[in-house]
Amino acid sequence: MLPDIDKLLELQAADKEIRQLREEVAALPKRVAAIEQKLAGTKAHLEKVRAAGKNDEANRKKFETNIKDLQGKISKYRAQSLDVKTNDQYKALLHEIQFAEQEIRLNEDRILDVMVNVETREKEVKAAEAELKAETAEIEKEKEEARKVTAEDQKKLSEWNAKRDALRHGISEDILRHYERVMKFRGTGLAEVRDHKCMGCQVMLRPQIYNEARSGETVMFCESCQRIYYYNPANEVKPEQEVVTVTGRKRARPKADAPQAWFYRADYPEEGEVLLVFTNSGGGSTRRIYEMHTGRQFGEVLLREGNYRQAFPEDLTEAALRLNGHWEEKEIEEWGSEIPSNALDLLHKDLLAIRREHKASHKHSPATAEQPAVG
Ligand SMILES: [Zn+2]
Repeated sequence: MLPDIDKLLELQAADKEIRQLREEVAALPKRVAAIEQKLAGTKAHLEKVRAAGKNDEANRKKFETNIKDLQGKISKYRAQSLDVKTNDQYKALLHEIQFAEQEIRLNEDRILDVMVNVETREKEVKAAEAELKAETAEIEKEKEEARKVTAEDQKKLSEWNAKRDALRHGISEDILRHYERVMKFRGTGLAEVRDHKCMGCQVMLRPQIYNEARSGETVMFCESCQRIYYYNPANEVKPEQEVVTVTGRKRARPKADAPQAWFYRADYPEEGEVLLVFTNSGGGSTRRIYEMHTGRQFGEVLLREGNYRQAFPEDLTEAALRLNGHWEEKEIEEWGSEIPSNALDLLHKDLLAIRREHKASHKHSPATAEQPAVG
């Protein structure tokens, strides 16, 4: 893996940590504010209950005064009744007395209602006071906790920021700029390439791009999400191609005029990465196509007139890599629909050798030069 990519991965981890810490620091005052709001609600409720209690008390006094007034009236009517001259006058006074007595009973009932209310009211006030006390204690605890967590987070933040700054210094400026731009929009600046996909945006990659990204020779960006690619062989779905020890020995060149020729193509129109084998026999030639990783055959053997170079020009593009490999036609027929693993291994190893040669003969080109700019 390129050192820049290595550092970018570390930087991305640091950026993620920093973002989480910042979010936590920002969330704490909001939590405290929410509790304080609840506390204000409890206080308001307590005030209301207390005010209702005072109102009851005032009402009770009013009803008691009413009763006194009515009792006064009754005494007055009784005194008057001693002096009346007619039966009608007496009846009228008696009626007044009965009415006042009725009024007294009404006021007594109201007082009783208030007294019953007072008990409920007192319970309500007590409950509200207890709630307020508990909430006040809780908010103090929460505030203390928030202060502690914030202080810890701030400490961690400054440590991570220092780490981040150190990492940034070690990364090429243009790559860093690209990373930060994508990071800002997408939350991550890097994406793993795995199983022919960009794991950042899930877009399928063309075989050639996939192979280039996996080779880790240059810094590459996703054409679709602009994230910078990295490849982790440990995460590869199909662990193909065992790592061949570098022997330093030169790779044997396949003979140009051999009657059988193996090719690798990363960009086969529908199948993607394939292995092709052509065999000349008599006046014609045959072609077989196999899936690169599994060795499974695609379609049937195709027979055409003339040698394979004349017969299958559409297959022998510039992208076709010639591989070492020769098996008897009879043996290939016996393979059936799949290349046996020992043969497949040999072909894979030769392809690796080609790539190593290629790597050795090409100096690093600047990473950004051939990449599309970020929109
Ligand atoms: Zn992508």
